[in-house]
Amino acid sequence: MSTKLFDLSGKIALVTGSGRGIGFVLARGLASAGARIVLNDVDADGLAAATETLREDGVDAEGVSFDVTNANSVAAGLRDVVERVGNVDILVNNAGIQRRYPLEEFPEEEWRAVLDLDLTAPFLVAKAVVPDMIKAGGGKIINICSLQSTVTRPTIGAYTAAKGGLALLTKSMAVEWAQHNIQANGIGPGYFRTEMTRRLHEDPEFDAWLCKRVPAGRWGDPQELVGTGVFLASAASDYVNGQLLYVDGGLLAGF
Ligand code: NAP
Repeated sequence: MSTKLFDLSGKIALVTGSGRGIGFVLARGLASAGARIVLNDVDADGLAAATETLREDGVDAEGVSFDVTNANSVAAGLRDVVERVGNVDILVNNAGIQRRYPLEEFPEEEWRAVLDLDLTAPFLVAKAVVPDMIKAGGGKIINICSLQSTVTRPTIGAYTAAKGGLALLTKSMAVEWAQHNIQANGIGPGYFRTEMTRRLHEDPEFDAWLCKRVPAGRWGDPQELVGTGVFLASAASDYVNGQLLYVDGGLLAGF
């Protein structure tokens, strides 16, 4: 089989929240398939360091700092991306947060912060990027959803509501924009070792529970999301639209 199917040469990929964690690893993975990379984060210093790291690895990367939850900031950030790099062909909506409280105690502000970043931001960024994709004749949108787009645990009600919403927003993007040759799909990671899950993987009780619960018997490594990311960003997935591909070590397959 030709690897050209997965070749991203000549494509520009914007990955939100990619100063660290899964976003950074996905960006590096898309670069290894040939894409030019635009990293984004709110933390300008972290973003500059991440961009420099990619450049040292020989990656053609730019960093554009903007807050994806704010429509004005998104519009200005996108203008900057187009002027400095060019039109976005591949958008990865990755930025996300987790907040944990029992539902009856969930502070409204924290609830709204999770919904803003994990659900509204992918809508805002896609809305800003899609007009140029339509003009260009197509594009790829990858929404980083979660295992918790479909199942949940106590204390993560806001995250589950947002990621469940994002799975269905992905379908709306697919059905509305397929006519423009835009494919919108989701990746549903299981449990991966990042800053977001630090409290969990440093908790021996949770770690033991998880390793017993996941058929693979271990946490995921963010690098293991790259193959799915490249597939959904490439011509190999041109007739795949509105799907959520879980990368979870088999967790959802059993109970
Ligand atoms: P992470 O290490 O906490 O990274 C999240 C990134 O998003 C950070 O770089 C953060 O920047 C950035 N960010 C936060 N607010 C932002 C904003 N308003 N605008 C732009 N960027 C912003 O988390 P991660 O584990 O890599 O998670 C990445 C995605 O994967 C999230 O959507 C998450 O829900 C999803 N996911 C993760 C797991 C897992 O097991 N780790 C599982 C399922 C799904 P700062 O450094 O400035 O905070």
